[in-house]
Amino acid sequence: MSTQDCLFCRIVAGEIPADVVHETEHTLAFRDIHPQAPTHVLVVPREHHADAAALAAARPELVAELVSAAARVAASAGHPDDYRLVFNTGAGAGQTVFHTHLHVLGGRSLDWPPG
Ligand code: 5GP
Ligand code: ZN
Repeated sequence: MSTQDCLFCRIVAGEIPADVVHETEHTLAFRDIHPQAPTHVLVVPREHHADAAALAAARPELVAELVSAAARVAASAGHPDDYRLVFNTGAGAGQTVFHTHLHVLGGRSLDWPPG
């Protein structure tokens, strides 16, 4: 997939607007357009990788950067110790955008198991 075809590559490039809440040299965090909780932010690597496993294989250090960025997002949102991180992987598990993204959910109580 080229970056022109990828929604999140286009957000990273600034071609599609997003509500950015945090950024680093290698990551960008922006609010999900259909929030499922008061805090619902997507943390993505600026580089294109299809899913979390592909990112871990190619750039394992960026997986840690995503998690660290997610912790900062949760802290900034006022719930530093209570949040859920999700990598949906594969269409059968609900992945719809095939550019690695870490969901950060919080700001309400979260049930387990998820649907
Ligand atoms: P997935 O289902 O792949 O795990 O997550 C993709 C997420 O991207 C969904 O929660 C969806 O609401 C969000 N999303 C889809 N299109 C856009 C968009 O154009 N902008 C933003 N900010 N989020 C989007
Ligand atoms: Zn991409």
